[in-house]
Amino acid sequence: MAFPASGRIATYAQANAPFDIQSYPLREPLSGEALVRVSMSTICRSDIHSYQGHRPSPCPGLLGHEIVGRIVALGEGMTHDMRGDPLALGDRITWSEYFVPGESYFTEVLDLPQKAPGVDKYGHMAASTPPHHHGGFAEYCYILPKSWVLRLPDVLTDAEAAPLNCGVATMVAVTEAANIRLGSTVVIQGLGLLGLYGAAIAKSRGARCVIGLDINPSRREGSTRFGVDLALDPSGDLQELLQRIRAHSRPVGPDAVIEVCGVADVIPLGLEMIRTGGTYVLAGLVSPNAHVTLDANQILRKMVTLKGVHNYHPRHLVEALDFVVANRTRFPFSELVDARYALDQVTQAMNDAAAQRVLRAAIVP
Ligand SMILES: [Zn+2]
Repeated sequence: MAFPASGRIATYAQANAPFDIQSYPLREPLSGEALVRVSMSTICRSDIHSYQGHRPSPCPGLLGHEIVGRIVALGEGMTHDMRGDPLALGDRITWSEYFVPGESYFTEVLDLPQKAPGVDKYGHMAASTPPHHHGGFAEYCYILPKSWVLRLPDVLTDAEAAPLNCGVATMVAVTEAANIRLGSTVVIQGLGLLGLYGAAIAKSRGARCVIGLDINPSRREGSTRFGVDLALDPSGDLQELLQRIRAHSRPVGPDAVIEVCGVADVIPLGLEMIRTGGTYVLAGLVSPNAHVTLDANQILRKMVTLKGVHNYHPRHLVEALDFVVANRTRFPFSELVDARYALDQVTQAMNDAAAQRVLRAAIVP
């Protein structure tokens, strides 16, 4: 196949404006780069936040970071993936949603590459920024230097593979931070995609009981197939809710509470229910100004470990892949991607995702 001269990208000129299809030139990948043909890109909640202008995102905007694609061209030095498996043209791959330009104290000393200054993310740069193709809502995407690449086994469908590098890897990091182990009882606040992966991973880490909280009845109903033992509506009577949670996390309450609903107001409830000595992980409050009033004395008195998790370490991407491969018959991950759209339907896809008409919308360019 001749090297493609250009590729189409879905871009938006300003927050909430409809997407347009633009064509940008393609060039051979440079050293440390690869070029992939995108086979699927799923819409993450953070794409919606960027599109709606809740956080700074440069325009003309190119979104999409949960991407799976096949290698079209490999730059110099791109011979193996992060596990040491050889890379070849036509291989289907996933890669870290972020890349870290240059050396950094955060990467080399603190082992927090995801928080290194200057870290950039796929689907977070203006389409006008060369090499233009660096997001998922496009026909092609360059893998840029210092990204972590993993070859995908044929057994995985695109729908199972696309959320690996954001949703799944993040929940591997979150459940690790929550110290979930054999016999743990876990409460998950929010049963969107992150909550469902969190429940499934908690079960595979050996959790005895996973309790999911969500105000959306269809999300509660569907959650039991992803490892949630008890799904409850947090908007009802508070004392009754706490009683039911305590009854299922006997004798002293949940060992871990995980927030993935993105609503700061749920934090006091999480502190109320968690057992003394438990671990509370916040992972859904990704936008600024998540202010909340709480009784900090509870943190001290109950000796709660409070942690924030944002993105993930590259090792979590490897674990995410192995987890989905090992558990794909136990949990119906393929069904999480419940709507597919062409590249010229990104506006519709974003609107459906934002209105929660679909759980995970996929762009198939
Ligand atoms: Zn994401």
